[in-house]
Amino acid sequence: MTAVSPRCDLSNRIAVVTGGATGIGRATAVLLAECGARVFVGDYDPVEAISDGTSRLNITETRCDVRVEADIMKLIDLAESEGGGLDILVNNAGIGMVKQITDVTEQEWDACLDTNLKGAFLATKHAIPRMKTHGGGSIVNLASNAGILPRAHDPVYSTSKGALVAFTKSIALCHSIDRIRVNAVCPGPVGDTRMMNADLDKADDREAAIKQFIAASPIARVAERMISPREVAEAILYLVSDASFMVTGTCIAIDGGKSLGVPPSA
Ligand code: NAD
Repeated sequence: MTAVSPRCDLSNRIAVVTGGATGIGRATAVLLAECGARVFVGDYDPVEAISDGTSRLNITETRCDVRVEADIMKLIDLAESEGGGLDILVNNAGIGMVKQITDVTEQEWDACLDTNLKGAFLATKHAIPRMKTHGGGSIVNLASNAGILPRAHDPVYSTSKGALVAFTKSIALCHSIDRIRVNAVCPGPVGDTRMMNADLDKADDREAAIKQFIAASPIARVAERMISPREVAEAILYLVSDASFMVTGTCIAIDGGKSLGVPPSA
């Protein structure tokens, strides 16, 4: 019995994952590599010697700040020169911004929008010509629940993710003719990521904050746990694989139903 469904077999595919040092990006890089892809990770804060088998999986990691066009070009050139092409791009790098708009500085606005939106623009801009040369490709953007329904506690982050959803649909429409598919995933609260841990570290009561995240998502509530990075990676695998060949411009909520509305009372 083979572990990988033939429709999800990524043998001979070259993938770039931004922000792949930790969290969802790391889980995605590992899963795509397990399914046969040659994966290139670019992160501005790469973790040194990783013990999770990245060398066994032949994942190449390089320092890349997605806000800097020259860094993005270097990352994509590396995939092209060492891997021999580019089939898959996962625009995953992102930062949070929990602040009211009246307290946000111009630098903080730029940091959030530049990382979460401009980074995806730059990588997409440089990936598309390579994908066209190789007959097509698949791009997945890491949006968020906040991109579907804005939230009161993080207006700038919500703005960046809402714009990323619009970018996803727009580019999907423009480049369908090139056989390039563009989709987004919109996760709810995902545990075991640097971003989530940073939020939890700021909470007065960490356990209570975790419970609150779980309670907001109906399926997380019945499972009594947060969404895992691997569960988001599984959806990304579907979107980059041939199993989703007719799927473009969609935004899949991986949120246990959080964005459906007010959950039933416990
Ligand atoms: P994470 O902090 O573990 O991962 C983000 C990665 O992006 C880190 O490795 C970080 O070093 C990298 N990064 C940040 N700025 C960068 C830059 N300028 N250039 C290159 N790399 C950069 O958090 P995560 O939760 O795994 O986040 C991954 C994506 O998922 C983000 O886009 C985030 O907005 C989105 N997301 C996360 C959640 C969640 O609950 N954790 C929910 C919805 C969406």
